[in-house]
Amino acid sequence: MTNKSKKRLVIIIACITVIVLVAILLVFLLGNKISFVTEDGKSIGNNSTIEVAHGSAELPKISALYNDKTPIDVTTTGEADLNKIGEYRIAYSASYDGNEKTISVNIKVVDKTPPEIKLKGGDELNWTLGKEFVDPGFTAVDNVDGDVSANVKVSGTVDANTEGDYTLTYTVSDSAKNEATVTRTVHVVQKKEVDPGNKVVYLTYDDGPGPYTQKLLDILDKYNVKVTFFVTNGFPNYQNLIAEEARRGHTVAVHSYTHKYEQIYSGVEAFFDDFNKMNDVIKNQTGHAASILRFPGGGSNTISKKYCPGIMTTLTNEVGNRGILYADWNVSSGDAGETTSTQQVVANVISGIQKNNVSTVLQHDIKDFSVNAVEQIIQWGQANGYTFLPLSETSPMHHHAVNN
Ligand SMILES: [Zn+2]
Repeated sequence: MTNKSKKRLVIIIACITVIVLVAILLVFLLGNKISFVTEDGKSIGNNSTIEVAHGSAELPKISALYNDKTPIDVTTTGEADLNKIGEYRIAYSASYDGNEKTISVNIKVVDKTPPEIKLKGGDELNWTLGKEFVDPGFTAVDNVDGDVSANVKVSGTVDANTEGDYTLTYTVSDSAKNEATVTRTVHVVQKKEVDPGNKVVYLTYDDGPGPYTQKLLDILDKYNVKVTFFVTNGFPNYQNLIAEEARRGHTVAVHSYTHKYEQIYSGVEAFFDDFNKMNDVIKNQTGHAASILRFPGGGSNTISKKYCPGIMTTLTNEVGNRGILYADWNVSSGDAGETTSTQQVVANVISGIQKNNVSTVLQHDIKDFSVNAVEQIIQWGQANGYTFLPLSETSPMHHHAVNN
């Protein structure tokens, strides 16, 4: 080998060595990399900002990949109060095969939830023609700002001197500019003031509709008697009879969705949640929300004391604030437990009616033997000069003494 070719070989070996070294360096610098991505697949790096909704349960989930394909564990350091608006620093670290990477991320806790507006008296309201309109009121609570009722703006007007439907719009924003809007429809209607005088009977039926309600409706039609149904969701398959009750001219009123004492009497909000749920069913069936209520167990019940002392005192006052009327009864048929005899129900109702000028009779249309008593009660009443009426917002409402 000549000197010249020796020299050339050395140069070639040197070049190859340099190329190999550069290649190893490139693989090390470019290939061995750890990257971080958010849950929705966005890649993040040092000083990235991630927005988190106020009140979130946990920090955003960050995952790490080695060479864009191998998932590796991430450790988190630092703390953020997700129930407090602000910015926090969180470090995310990951290591793999002797490589380690840490990024510091700016966690921004922001308010993304609008306030919640609740309308006292509900989103549908009946108003008597000619009576000056007064808004029953509202509350607005924001998850961050708290009570923002004072910031609610109401637009729209109600002309109480002209029959018709009016829409009021309630709008409020929180400090993060999340806006909430709700509307209320006010039906201005002519209401006849009923002066029932003597010998009036309000027949009322609780806990249905159920398997015997259709039979009852047909008996009532036979005598052209209108009554009041305090309805529940106890038999969901019979819900269509709520529409039928209204269609035949009876009053549909709220009893309870669940009729579970331990639930509805556990607190004021629990009670009205249940009330509203039943009223939604009524609205679906009849097109109108009801404004008359019968408390399960009556206003005088003491069982509620077990779940919330004093709740009946609060509820019997609060319903008025929400534009709801409630009716107890002054004649009990005994069909809730004392008897299962049709003749005994007839006897109880007839003797009760005779003791009052105006009677509100409690029966349950989910009891066959009680529905079977209705025809005799009506025949006796009509033969003895009684008028049967459905309850309306202008009817006298019997109220029991409150015991809790
Ligand atoms: Zn009941």
